[in-house]
Amino acid sequence: MKILVLNCGSSSLKYQLIDMDDESVLAKGLVERIGIAGSCIKHTKTGMDAVKRDVDFPTHTEAIKYVLDMLVDKKYGVLKSLNELAAAGHRIVHGGEDFTSSALVTPKVIKGIEKVIPLAPLHNPANLQGIKAVQAVLPKLPNVVVFDTAFHQTMPPKAFLYGIDYKYYEKDRVRRYGFHGTSHRYVSQRAAEILKKDPKKLKIVTCHLGNGSSITAVDGGKSVETSMGYSTAEGVIMGTRCGDLDSAVVVYLAEKLKDPKAVSDEVQKKAGLLGISGVSSDLRDVEIAAEKGNKRAQLAQEKLIYGVKKYIGSYAAGMGGIDVLVFTAGIGENGIGFRKAVCEGLDFMGIKVDAKKNDCRGKEVVISTPSSRVKVMVIPTNEELVIARDTKACVEAAAKPAKKTAVKKTAAKPAAKAAVKKASATKKATAKKAAAKPVKKVVTKKAAAKPAKKAAVKKTTAAKAVAAKPAKKAVAKKPATKKTAAPKKK
Ligand code: AMP
Repeated sequence: MKILVLNCGSSSLKYQLIDMDDESVLAKGLVERIGIAGSCIKHTKTGMDAVKRDVDFPTHTEAIKYVLDMLVDKKYGVLKSLNELAAAGHRIVHGGEDFTSSALVTPKVIKGIEKVIPLAPLHNPANLQGIKAVQAVLPKLPNVVVFDTAFHQTMPPKAFLYGIDYKYYEKDRVRRYGFHGTSHRYVSQRAAEILKKDPKKLKIVTCHLGNGSSITAVDGGKSVETSMGYSTAEGVIMGTRCGDLDSAVVVYLAEKLKDPKAVSDEVQKKAGLLGISGVSSDLRDVEIAAEKGNKRAQLAQEKLIYGVKKYIGSYAAGMGGIDVLVFTAGIGENGIGFRKAVCEGLDFMGIKVDAKKNDCRGKEVVISTPSSRVKVMVIPTNEELVIARDTKACVEAAAKPAKKTAVKKTAAKPAAKAAVKKASATKKATAKKAAAKPVKKVVTKKAAAKPAKKAAVKKTTAAKAVAAKPAKKAVAKKPATKKTAAPKKK
């Protein structure tokens, strides 16, 4: 089964073609400047040098058409015919509260993604353009959506609520959502696999540290807390994002700048490593400047290290322990000195790093000492592979029609009684049972209730099946090798 994985930004499109028989990447590429003068494509067939072409791409539809042409190109292609494609898997940034797992695209799913555009005004429309472009070019190809937010939907209200008037949650869904969910899911499952441990028995802190960074507490295989919140600006400082900030500072900036867009730019684009160091948003540049004695660069570096340390401590406290600490993404996978600095002084909580083992980049390595109670690991993330696995699972589950519909209760969310709506084609909630036997039964459970409202029931059978499948599969699968989908840096 060959799956095309797509990550569409407002003017870009990243793709990978993955053969699910061995999870190898057959081809990958990047289209840039869609709709802008100077658009181009860089395409790489595995085993060959990349080919770069300047082509006019007015919209994502032309870009997708060109990508598909490249995939069947005599010289650079990897498919004899587009009929070999089984499905397209799309990365979607925001699924709000409606999407707790991946889903096969239907008109209702599209509506659901459109509904949460206000929560991700830049990303979700671009992601939707990718789906619509595929539908326009290959109308029969199934599309599957995989959400950055979905993994964190297991956070309890005490973790996802902000301490503001509850009405803002009830009416406007202002709450913490969390992002990088596919990455946190992948590395936490991979950690359990590598350690040959049952994920249900592990308390893991996963540190996805890149240009954007988030840290997640994964207890028993579920995200129970994560550092990004309503937007991707919360948490530790990032390349250009401010991280945790007293709300009074935002009010101060609003009064001073008198322009919401200018305030947003201050906290999203001019802050973080760049804002503090005044040098760069890239940690490598900051580290070089710090070494040369630049005080602000030293401060930026220290603030990020200190921030990560504090999150690890607080998540260990929140979970009542920590068994595994994972580093991933650009900084986490490559920052040897950075990892050392974060773990320094954490012996008191059972974290001891072996300097020699830590001297590695971009590889799966346990970097803790044998006597370290907490296993410290470097695991390159691989969001494309998760998207491809979910896509395969959704397509396979959808191919086996559901037979029965049943109703099952589930834990209610705060201050409300859950009600079960009619299970519709796309809003059939599923219980654990359904996840285990997705083909036979569609189980409707009492939805995690929305406050003061009757809650709609959400998950699709296929979607819930996915939640179970990759985890199961992952246990059976060998560690990712060079052949598998290339780690993505975000
Ligand atoms: P990502 O967004 O995952 O691509 O990560 C980008 C971040 O990773 C940038 O801040 C880079 O400076 C950082 N990074 C990449 N390589 C290294 C390295 N060798 N040491 C420290 N940071 C690195």
